Amino acid sequence: MSPETPTVEMHPQRWGDPAAATALPESALGLVDLAFGLQDRPAATGATPPPSALDDVLLDGLRGIVGAEHVLVDDATRALRTRGKSTPDLLRARAGDLADAPDAVVRPDGHAEVEAVLAWAHEHRVAVVPFGGGTCVTGGLAARRDGFAGLVSLDLVRMKRLLAVDDVSMTATLQPGLRGPEAEALLAAHGLTLGHFPQSFEHASIGGFAATRSSGQSSAGYGRFDAMVVGLTAATPTGPLDLGSAPANAAGPDLRQLLLGSEGAFGVITSVTVRVRRLPEVRAYEGWRWPSFDAGSDAMRTLAQAGLLPTVLRLSDESETAINLADPSSIGGADDPGCLMVTGYEGTGEQVAARRDAVTAALTRLGGTPLGTEPGDKWVQGRFHAPYLRDALLDHGVLVETLETATFWSNRGRLYADVKAALTGALGEGALVLCHVSHVYETGCSLYFTVAVRQGDDPIAQWQAAKAAASDAIIAAGATITHHHAVGTDHRPWFAEEVGEVGVRVLRAVKAELDPAGILNPGVLVP
Ligand SMILES: Cc1cc2nc3c(=O)[nH]c(=O)nc-3n(C[C@H](O)[C@H](O)[C@H](O)COP(=O)(O)OP(=O)(O)OC[C@H]3O[C@@H](n4cnc5c(N)ncnc54)[C@H](O)[C@@H]3O)c2cc1C
Repeated sequence: MSPETPTVEMHPQRWGDPAAATALPESALGLVDLAFGLQDRPAATGATPPPSALDDVLLDGLRGIVGAEHVLVDDATRALRTRGKSTPDLLRARAGDLADAPDAVVRPDGHAEVEAVLAWAHEHRVAVVPFGGGTCVTGGLAARRDGFAGLVSLDLVRMKRLLAVDDVSMTATLQPGLRGPEAEALLAAHGLTLGHFPQSFEHASIGGFAATRSSGQSSAGYGRFDAMVVGLTAATPTGPLDLGSAPANAAGPDLRQLLLGSEGAFGVITSVTVRVRRLPEVRAYEGWRWPSFDAGSDAMRTLAQAGLLPTVLRLSDESETAINLADPSSIGGADDPGCLMVTGYEGTGEQVAARRDAVTAALTRLGGTPLGTEPGDKWVQGRFHAPYLRDALLDHGVLVETLETATFWSNRGRLYADVKAALTGALGEGALVLCHVSHVYETGCSLYFTVAVRQGDDPIAQWQAAKAAASDAIIAAGATITHHHAVGTDHRPWFAEEVGEVGVRVLRAVKAELDPAGILNPGVLVP
């Protein structure tokens, strides 16, 4: 992968590769009409961003750092770097609202150029928004611009090299602009894998994974992204950070953790050293049926606490199981599809066989019904496809959005009930509220909710009211405002409650030290 290797650009108003856009099949249209009533909601065309606020004198400074061809001010490029891919982001883009477009898109190649751009921005009071894959769903790419001379998108797309592989220690050093598939392809050439497969895998970047503390769908086996990171470098307006010189240490607080999850507000992550695994020889996925969400969740807890986790482990509640299965009757009677669990195993033949046997014995003992490989294979085939359906539903006037949280096992039932009630209360009885357990730990799990409801006149306000109600319920239940989507701008008020007043002061102090002019992602993360 070289700095010039082309990257697939996502559609500015939709998710993903424009060539993979999907329309709803006729059969689904009928169901959507029945549930929500079809509406025609075409996207606006021909919108252009406001004129760039940066004049040529200022831009010449940037051109001198990265080269004139890597300072882009054309409308199309600026539109592509406007906000992320939450449903409100898509609704704004579909309405032709490009008010948050950057004044310029700057593409540095390497740590030194990033540092020089930050020094330029510090000197001229220009806000800087680091841009990885642009898949953010929490407003982390919509920084404040008031009080600044302008705002640039710092696009890391040219920083896509595998810098080092240590196959004795099993680590690899990657540049931040590598998208998920690009990083996996480079590692696969060495017989290695990272094993980080979030649903946004095809477009999200290594730097973004680190900056948001992302969690992939195989986290039961490979762990969260932050747990994979052994070292990183970052550029800040006040100098470089180079952290992680040993596999573990007692050298004070772990400063790597200050940059992981910092969402571009403390510095720009310019390389990440991750632990890697051997490419799996065998992959096997299967389905299990549980009579209830509680029974399936308890089984997950038992596996996690017995040290018996498969590589993939997820469990849909009754509503999600019924909606997601083309034929719910295939898992236990049309009236009672129960709850679908997907388990997946990756490794050598021996590892997979041993783990699969042990998990199968445990799940059978706990009351699960094995469904064979078909539901698992179906899940694997469709795992990156669902976001395209969101666009198709938005086209037909259905509001679809997700949110996630996490809590300890003893609080799971309360959190599930409270968030579901909050969403239903805000969106009305006509709303579908679905949930799955997406990530598990010895001590708890994350819950991932999806809602679908007929769009009202102001769907953004409609969602914001529901999201606020759910966020209040999450904090009242003592859970976290985000398990893996990060804070951005959307979660800031609840994040402040979660970390408390002293926590907020610590974050502000770190920001003031690393970024005294406050140019890095103003308004993102730090309350
Ligand atoms: C359809 C869909 C599915 C998703 N599924 C998952 C999932 O399964 N798991 C999950 O964890 N998340 C998921 N997400 C959320 C999102 O993909 C993650 O937050 C991802 O880690 C963001 O990576 P990115 O490269 O796209 O970052 P961006 O969106 O470009 O940036 C995210 C934030 O990090 C900052 N940033 C980016 N790069 C750097 C850098 N190098 N240094 C400093 N700051 C930086 C940005 O300024 C911004 O604030 C999903 C999102 C969508 C739209």
